[in-house]
Amino acid sequence: MPPLTSIEKLDLLSLTKVGMEKFVHAQGWKPYRAEQILRWMYQRGVTQVEHMTDLSIQDRTHLGDIATINWPTITDVVQSRDGTAKFLIRLHDGASIETVLIPERDRRTLCISTQVGCSLDCRFCLTAELGLKRNLTAGEIIGQFLCVQEHIEKTNKTPPRLTNVVMMGMGEPLANIGPVRDAIQNMIHGRCGLGLSPRRITVSTAGIHHKFKDIVELGVNLAVSLNASTNEQRNAIMPAANQLCSLPDLLAACRSLALPHRRRLTFEYVLLRGVNDSPQDAVRLAGSIRGIPCMVNVIPFNEIPGSPYTRPDEATILEFQDILIRRNIDTYLRKSKGPDVLGACGQLGASARQML
Ligand code: SF4
Repeated sequence: MPPLTSIEKLDLLSLTKVGMEKFVHAQGWKPYRAEQILRWMYQRGVTQVEHMTDLSIQDRTHLGDIATINWPTITDVVQSRDGTAKFLIRLHDGASIETVLIPERDRRTLCISTQVGCSLDCRFCLTAELGLKRNLTAGEIIGQFLCVQEHIEKTNKTPPRLTNVVMMGMGEPLANIGPVRDAIQNMIHGRCGLGLSPRRITVSTAGIHHKFKDIVELGVNLAVSLNASTNEQRNAIMPAANQLCSLPDLLAACRSLALPHRRRLTFEYVLLRGVNDSPQDAVRLAGSIRGIPCMVNVIPFNEIPGSPYTRPDEATILEFQDILIRRNIDTYLRKSKGPDVLGACGQLGASARQML
């Protein structure tokens, strides 16, 4: 069962369709009531049980007595010069997380968090400094989408819809796989969820390889954060993740993963000056992923205060990308989004830390 709130009420946002059907059955209600409740939350954005007006007053009262909708609260929005917006979000127990909205041409991607803090200790990441405070519930994961969409609707005359989700915010999604899976199921359900295409959802992992299959089975995209061309390098940059699964084992797991037809993995590679950004690194990387259906996102490091790492210069970045491309690896250079508000990759956690 999903967790109860502090006042011991069930959070309806944490129930999948199957969970809601069981809940509805347990109340002695007709099965169709499950879809009614889900549609109120995900398609009409209702935040309170009493607004579900196609339930009888008696049923609404009963539902309100035993359950609630733990709608997250946006406490601050920091706007970047490039249009990116970072949302500081408070959860029902007072914990805070960060969520980033990245508008690009015809897309509006929401980068959402899956944990308060993170259990891993990637050395280039600000979130790691928080440590793991707790996992998010399924409701708190999908709730980030709902409250940001609500914010967009309140602040725009012709509000656009969020189109894509990347689970690359605070936390390691695969260390919280149950709630992540439930939230994704509600995101992609057409009739009573958000109706997002699974292809528009990407889950990023630091390499918890035994959970890869759980993500692939949902039909969503899997991104694996490699960041190193040798095991020694990865040990230095991502010690906890590499202890869970060494670089050779991680690559072997990626190679043997059964992907659906015409789908491919994304490898993420954060470029750190003088650490993993040499031409030899690029050649080794190309060799080690050869034959895996994949693309590579090269992410020049977004500098954070107090970090020992710096961003490579432009020529080094372009040469790294060029070496991969010349070896027939589809390679994209990730533009930094929102670095001036610490909203870019690896920069989340500064505001949340002040709230803990
Ligand atoms: S990069 Fe991701 S997995 Fe690593 S510490 Fe940061 S949030 Fe956690």
